Amino acid sequence: MSEESPISVSREKCVGCGLCVSACPFGAITLVDGFPVISDECRLCGACVEACPEGAITIRETRKEVDLSAYRGVLIYAEQRRGEIHPVAYELLGKGRELADQLGEPLYAVIIGSGVRRGAEELAIRGADKVFVYDHPALADFRDDPYSALLVELVQEEKPSIFLIGATAIGRSLGPKVAARLGTGLTADCTGLEIDPETRLLVQTRPAFGGNIMATIICPDRRPQMATVRYKVMPEAEPDPTRRGEIVEKPVDVARLPDRVKVLGFQPAADEVSIVDADIIVSGGKGLGDPKGFELIEELAHILGGAVGASRPTVDEGWIEYRHQVGLSGRTVRPKLYLACGISGAVQHLAGMKTSDVIISINKDPEAPILRVSSLGAVGDLYEVIPRLIEKIKEYRKRG
Ligand code: FAD
Repeated sequence: MSEESPISVSREKCVGCGLCVSACPFGAITLVDGFPVISDECRLCGACVEACPEGAITIRETRKEVDLSAYRGVLIYAEQRRGEIHPVAYELLGKGRELADQLGEPLYAVIIGSGVRRGAEELAIRGADKVFVYDHPALADFRDDPYSALLVELVQEEKPSIFLIGATAIGRSLGPKVAARLGTGLTADCTGLEIDPETRLLVQTRPAFGGNIMATIICPDRRPQMATVRYKVMPEAEPDPTRRGEIVEKPVDVARLPDRVKVLGFQPAADEVSIVDADIIVSGGKGLGDPKGFELIEELAHILGGAVGASRPTVDEGWIEYRHQVGLSGRTVRPKLYLACGISGAVQHLAGMKTSDVIISINKDPEAPILRVSSLGAVGDLYEVIPRLIEKIKEYRKRG
């Protein structure tokens, strides 16, 4: 390693036992004449420091102290796709407004794209005090490089204390890049955000270890406190046309932006409705008894114009793909109508759908917990109830 490397070995303390060599997960240490030599493969993980019984290896703290008092306000990233704001942005605005009000600080939003001025106005109407707009034809399609460079620059200029991004495919790609470049932490896939009234820190909650525990994470020393937030977990901020947020057009110097990816075309995903965006979801559970049972679920979903959901055991059994799974370790959904067929209503399933507007369940067990959260419950065999339901819907449609 170079002279300025933050890791060093004391010649006075080292006894040449070689424990550091076997402790290093990167094979970065070799003993040369009984003394450890650390190569550039070292990732400063600290495993050797812990393994050394003589305390001969030290890693110097290289990070600069952050002046926390310089950071103020809550910033949300308003994702857009082909000019349309993704609804997760409105959910972030709702939560962001709440956090900003608690802190007595402003709420900012940032939007990047082409022809996004109208979207920016919508963000202001839905609660942003200031909306930063990067609008340029070269920014029409999302690419990590230019988008993350602009976000890093904005955070360095405006110094928000909190920065929230939706945990969508785009957000999951952007968030870690921006956080790493800013030298701060990131809590991914949060399902809860609050302000600790004593410390004024952002308390970030997310399921961990496959949903077995809920982890509470804080970022006390770095700024901004960054989180990606699960879609459909938080209520959307409603429009209030009397609100007047400021729109700040930011200059875009395309030549200066890094950009290693060229978008050749755009092909929308298969025409199947995704459960996350669906207004109606018909879900099947273990009560189907057999993978073929999903044919009936699909038929009902199709006739209602909805998407097919599933409980975890059906996914674990390979009856249906993971992308259909609703629940703590699957997707969180909030449709207008959720139809649970042969699903018992375990807490992990309810965690993913209990905020649906209307829940209807079909279960042969009158004591099934799902019935307690349902607006309407049909107690009976789903193989009798669903075909009759399909028949009734068809009849109803025929009558116009
Ligand atoms: P069961 O609990 O077996 O229920 C089947 C139901 O079908 C019963 O209520 C039964 O009365 C009814 N039934 C049977 N036959 C019929 C019939 N012919 N007609 C009508 N009703 C019938 N689960 C999820 O769903 N999503 C998750 O994301 C998830 N994450 C988890 C994460 C962790 C860490 C853990 C530990 C568990 C998780 N689970 C999850 C599993 C969860 O605990 C339950 O085991 C699961 O939800 C049960 O699925 P089910 O309701 O389909 O099956």
